[in-house]
Amino acid sequence: MKNYHDVIIIGAGPIGSYTAYLLSKKGFNVGIFEKNLSIGKNINCTGIISEKCYKKIGIKEDILVRSVYSIKAYSPSGNHISYYSSEPIAYIIDRMKFDIYMNEMANGEGAKTYLNANVEKIRTDGSSFKIVANINNECREFRSKIGVIATGYCIDSVYRSLYKRRTHYFGIQAKGVIDNLDSIEVYFGNQIAPGSFGWLAPYKGSEVMVGLIVKDDPIRYLKRFLKEPLISHRIHVKEKSIKCSLLPIGMNVKTYGDRVLVVGEAAAQVKTTTGGGIYFGMLCSEIAVNTIIKAFERTDFSENLLKEYQVMWLKKIGPELKAGKVIRSIFSRLSDKQIDILMDIAKRDGFLPMIRNMDFDWHRDAIFYIIKNIISKGLSNF
Ligand SMILES: Cc1cc2nc3c(=O)[nH]c(=O)nc-3n(C[C@H](O)[C@H](O)[C@H](O)COP(=O)(O)OP(=O)(O)OC[C@H]3O[C@@H](n4cnc5c(N)ncnc54)[C@H](O)[C@@H]3O)c2cc1C
Repeated sequence: MKNYHDVIIIGAGPIGSYTAYLLSKKGFNVGIFEKNLSIGKNINCTGIISEKCYKKIGIKEDILVRSVYSIKAYSPSGNHISYYSSEPIAYIIDRMKFDIYMNEMANGEGAKTYLNANVEKIRTDGSSFKIVANINNECREFRSKIGVIATGYCIDSVYRSLYKRRTHYFGIQAKGVIDNLDSIEVYFGNQIAPGSFGWLAPYKGSEVMVGLIVKDDPIRYLKRFLKEPLISHRIHVKEKSIKCSLLPIGMNVKTYGDRVLVVGEAAAQVKTTTGGGIYFGMLCSEIAVNTIIKAFERTDFSENLLKEYQVMWLKKIGPELKAGKVIRSIFSRLSDKQIDILMDIAKRDGFLPMIRNMDFDWHRDAIFYIIKNIISKGLSNF
């Protein structure tokens, strides 16, 4: 049937394409609608993923930029703690190539991707999920049994109603050049990113990604970060490369409705500690796919059945999201001096052995450890 798919997916970012790949593999007729002219445009991401995530998709060699073997964390006074490993701690991928790869995987299983296809209207009725997509300047209507919103965090008028209370952060990042950076460096302090952090991540050759996550005033904080004594003499940044996006860290989103599910960053399925969204988005996409399969088996696309998706994904990552919110809230109340004291305690009191056993994606245990063994000890010194 013309202009019909079993499932319509809005957004060909990694999570939309992954969802399409999984569904197409199961034999569904999937249409992916992407507003950009090509896949992997306008990305703002450092591309850091864990080994688990890397292996989950079996990423091709040319997508991998580098493996990371060490991380350094700096307190406001420049005191630092370093962790080295003989095995990769994380991987840095080329996000543009990654998005293209994920989309090719979906298309390879039979999904159809429409490019330059901005979805301008969404409607559901008793028999279908309907969209109006502006494809190459022509408005066309498409229908499906069910729709998946994978637009990233997007507060355009069509999607705004998903986010009742918008409490987002800004993720700002620039590309620059640096001599000799092998580690990911993380910087704490109220002058850098209050209650959050800034980072340097090595990229291709001498390229570096420098960024931070803040609640307000991202440009001002980034400019100040670049003037930090520990950074300013090492790095040269091109102002034109600065990109800033909204990050829905810790936001509550209703991710289901009649004939519709929301996945990935659009559903705020991002780590509340770091803002990383690729791994959690993929995990939740798998849950969404299982729910969609069930809906087709029962010919029931009602909100009542689809709410199971939200219950399941919150069961999977909800405790992590909550723990991250707790540590963010504690951090946002600390002075620079207090962060310095905590860093001292962490250096002395066996934090590094704990890090060795820490999972790159799951931070809850580390957060409890930090609260119990570091912050509670710090309280007596504050
Ligand atoms: C500075 C920064 C650094 C980050 N670093 C990391 C990191 O190191 N590791 C990590 O895991 N995560 C990181 N993230 C988060 C990560 O980038 C996101 O979680 C991830 O991109 C989410 O994928 P997605 O597919 O849900 O959404 P997106 O990647 O945003 O994809 C959504 C797609 O939908 C399309 N779209 C939107 N609206 C429409 C429409 N109306 N019609 C058609 N198409 C539409 C968009 O063009 C886009 O292609 C970072 C984020 C920021 C801001």
